[in-house]
Amino acid sequence: MDVAVVGAGPAGAWAAYRLARAGARVTIFDGSHPREKPCGGGVTGRALSLVREALNGSPLQSTTIRAARFTNGPGDRHALVTLGERALEVMDRTRFDRALLDAAVHAGAALVAARVVDVTTTTHSIAVETRGATHAADFVIGADGANSLVRRRLSTPFTRAQLSIAAGCFARGVTSDEIAIEMVGDPPGYLWSFPRADHLAIGVCAQADAGVGAAALRQAAAHWIQRMRLASPSCRLDWYSWPIPSLSAHDLASQMIAGPQWSLVGDAAGLVDPITREGIYFAIASGGWAADAILSGRSAAPAYVDRVKDDLCAELGAASRLKEGFFRPAFTDLLLDGLQRSARIRAVMADLVAGTQSYRTLKWRLMGTLEVGLAGGAIKLLMGRKT
Ligand SMILES: Cc1cc2nc3c(=O)[nH]c(=O)nc-3n(C[C@H](O)[C@H](O)[C@H](O)COP(=O)(O)OP(=O)(O)OC[C@H]3O[C@@H](n4cnc5c(N)ncnc54)[C@H](O)[C@@H]3O)c2cc1C
Repeated sequence: MDVAVVGAGPAGAWAAYRLARAGARVTIFDGSHPREKPCGGGVTGRALSLVREALNGSPLQSTTIRAARFTNGPGDRHALVTLGERALEVMDRTRFDRALLDAAVHAGAALVAARVVDVTTTTHSIAVETRGATHAADFVIGADGANSLVRRRLSTPFTRAQLSIAAGCFARGVTSDEIAIEMVGDPPGYLWSFPRADHLAIGVCAQADAGVGAAALRQAAAHWIQRMRLASPSCRLDWYSWPIPSLSAHDLASQMIAGPQWSLVGDAAGLVDPITREGIYFAIASGGWAADAILSGRSAAPAYVDRVKDDLCAELGAASRLKEGFFRPAFTDLLLDGLQRSARIRAVMADLVAGTQSYRTLKWRLMGTLEVGLAGGAIKLLMGRKT
């Protein structure tokens, strides 16, 4: 079995690593490395635990995050949530992605450092085209991110309503051991500052059809940097904007992410938390599962689709249903109250940041905090009801 993997971000590199380790013939296509992907670079403990062994010894230079500071607008009101040990590490994507790709190559994957310009299927094989060469494969994994060519060729492209747009910058020469998060009602979302070894990754995002473009988002981030004094006026800010898949529960359940000779993984499959925009864990998990399905020898597509839909899409769908309520000012006011007053609510939030609190059981966990007034009001607002 010859497997072509298009894209060497976390999803593609991890799929290639798992396949190559098991003895499959794998070719991974990506001409971009080394490169910094627009990203916070927050890698949760659950994501790292999947790849830790493969990365053993790679110099990642991560920042261990001690706490998350939450605000919900101008003013001094804030809440500090202490995170569990190694719940969240922040790192630059140049090194993290390169380390995963190196692991795949050491395991035996062949790297073609070129962009794929077309993918076509015939009854028995797949043709993967780069400029000047065509590679025949039995199976193709589309791990080529939010603008996925493989998705456009073999499934349906994301619509505008299925994307968020993120804008942000890397603020050079500043760091910290806290992440800062400001929850914003309009457009609904949050501003973030994630500290890395020698810079901050700062950004904001909004649903692409919310009527707010990248320029307005950059301006919002720039104002926040000034207001919060995150970086001095002389600090170099390197700006970017980039799409993030952000699918509804219905779209997650109904989209086509695999066929007899292909599968989509990571961002290309729309697997990003629509509230936190955490995507690295889902990229790695889905990349590994796509590899497992191919290696199982049974029909790869149903095995992969069932696993992703039963687990990841169910969880992301639950997040998507809560998303609208999550950034309402009435909810974020109540949440901030809860975070300031209750250690139990801070513990729930710490687990949400670490990705270990399921959205499917969030309501019950909040009820279990015994903060009856706070939790009850918060749940009503999350479920779209007025208190
Ligand atoms: C601003 C921002 C902040 C974010 N912050 C976080 C965060 O803090 N934590 C988190 O978990 N997630 C975060 N995310 C989401 C996270 O970045 C993605 O979910 C994650 O990178 C998805 O991994 P992937 O491997 O699917 O795709 P990618 O990481 O996008 O990798 C895709 C790869 O495919 C390559 N490629 C694309 N087209 C082709 C082609 N035609 N031929 C060959 N190669 C191709 C690209 O060069 C790239 O290397 C953030 C996203 C954004 C935009």
